[in-house]
Amino acid sequence: MHEYSIVQALLTQCEEIAKENDAQSVQKIVVKIGRMSGVEPHLLEVAFNTFKEKTICDGADFVMNLQPLTIECNLCKTMTELDEIYYKCPKCDSLDVRVVDGEDMFLMSLEME
Ligand SMILES: [Zn+2]
Repeated sequence: MHEYSIVQALLTQCEEIAKENDAQSVQKIVVKIGRMSGVEPHLLEVAFNTFKEKTICDGADFVMNLQPLTIECNLCKTMTELDEIYYKCPKCDSLDVRVVDGEDMFLMSLEME
């Protein structure tokens, strides 16, 4: 499953960061998930809870921030946050828009000890 490989990559990343900082354990992990990233938050949480055992992240809080899709209109330069998949400028109706945010998922912060 998609989410499983994401979590494994995330745990590896957390372990590397913890090692660099000489941390013994990770308390909190904050990730940002774009609405258009294709990541299902619920499945990601399930996958995290499955894989965290016996890793440095066992016992860490897993916080997910959902990032709305953000587009910028190339014509009128309006930035819009969208809850729907809707690649159109709400101000001038232009379809000439650029996705600014909301298409990826990444690690935002780690709290370690
Ligand atoms: Zn526009």
